Amino acid sequence: MVDYIGIERIRQLVARRGAARFIEELTSEIEADFLRWNEFDKSARHATHSTVGVIELMPASDGRLYAFKYVNGHPKNTAVGLLTVTAFGVLADVHTGYPLLLSELTLTTALRTAATSALAARRMARADSRVMALIGNGAQSEFQAIAFHSLLGIRGLRLYDTDAGATDKLERNLARLALSDLEVVRCASSAAAVQGADIITTVTADKRNATILTPEMITGGVHVNAVGGDCPGKTELHPDILSRADVRVVVEYGPQTRIEGEIQQMPADFPVIELAQVLAGRAPGRAGDREVTIFDSVGFALEDFSALRYLLRIHHEERGGEQQIDLLPDLEDPKDLFGVLAGELEPFAAQRGVAA
Ligand code: NAD
Repeated sequence: MVDYIGIERIRQLVARRGAARFIEELTSEIEADFLRWNEFDKSARHATHSTVGVIELMPASDGRLYAFKYVNGHPKNTAVGLLTVTAFGVLADVHTGYPLLLSELTLTTALRTAATSALAARRMARADSRVMALIGNGAQSEFQAIAFHSLLGIRGLRLYDTDAGATDKLERNLARLALSDLEVVRCASSAAAVQGADIITTVTADKRNATILTPEMITGGVHVNAVGGDCPGKTELHPDILSRADVRVVVEYGPQTRIEGEIQQMPADFPVIELAQVLAGRAPGRAGDREVTIFDSVGFALEDFSALRYLLRIHHEERGGEQQIDLLPDLEDPKDLFGVLAGELEPFAAQRGVAA
C-alpha cells in the first residue's frame, strides 16, 4: 500500500495545522533542504509546450528519497472554469525504488511557492518592510498574502488585477481570515498598487512577455517577488528593470531560471545569485537599504521534494483521515507477479471461447 493525500486530506491537514503554521513549517523544511544544496541531484525541469500552455515534470533526489511533480500551466483555463495550475506528485524510497506517497500538489504548490517567496524575502527585503503590492489576484494570491503577513510582518496589502472579480474574491477570502492587523487597499492599476510598497509581488498568468512592472514603478530599496513569469516567452518585468546598476537578482537554480525566468530576457552571462548561497550566508540577499532586490521565482523541484516529505510526516502525525491506495501489488513471491491475476482469470480456453 502507498500513502495517499487527496484534496479532502490536504484540506484536513491544513485546517489542523492552520494555514500560517503550515506555511511556516514548510518554509523551514525548504530552507533545510536548500542548506544541503550539494547533496541533491538537480536538473532543470522537463517542459512540454503547446500553443496554450505547458506540462512539466520536476524530479529531485538526495540519494535517499526521490520526488517528482507533474504540473501544468494553462493561463486561459480560467475562462472555461479550470485552474491555471494543477499538480500531483510522488515521494519514493531510493533504496527500493518503491513509492511512499502519492499526493495532490495543486494546493501544495500554492503553499510551497508562498513559503519559498517568504524564505527569499526574509533575506532580501528591507527588515522594515510593512507594505506589499500584490499584482495578480488569482489562485496563488491568498497564499502569498498569508505567507508575507505571517513571516515578513506585512501589515498593508495593495491589490491589483485586470479582472476585478479576482480582486473581489481575494478581498472576500482575506476578510474571512479576519486578520485585524492587515489593511487591504484595492488599487486601479499596477502603477497605483506599487505606490508606497516595500515589496512588490507579481503573480499574474499570461502566456506572453507581459510587462506588469516598468522601470519608473521601481524605487530604490524595493524588493520584487516575481512569481508569475515561469516559462520561455512568459515574463512580467520590463528588461530595463533587470539592467539597473543597483539591482540584485536571486534565483532558485540558475540553469532552469535562465530558460524560464525574468532573466531569459538578459544575456546568458547576466550575473545572478542562487538562493542556496544566500541562505548559507555565502552571499548577501541585500546590500544596503537602497538596493533593488528581485527574487526571480520559477519554482524548483527541491521545493516539491521538501513539501512531499513534510506532507508524509504530518500525514502520519495527524491521526484520523489517513488513506492508502493499492498502487503496488503485495506479493508473497515477488517473482510471481502473474499470480496477482491468476485467481481472477478464466482458463485460457474459456477466454477464447474454445470448447474444452
Ligand atoms: P490564475 O490564473 O489563477 O491567476 C492569475 C491572475 O493574473 C488572474 O486573476 C489574471 O486576471 C491576472 N492577470 C493577468 N494579466 C494581468 C495583468 N497584466 N495585470 C494584473 N493582473 C493580471 O493563476 P495562478 O495560479 O494564480 O498563477 C499565477 C502565475 O504564477 C502563473 O503564471 C503560474 O504559472 C505562476 N506560478 C509560479 C510558481 C512559481 O513557483 N514561481 C508557482 C505557481 C504558479
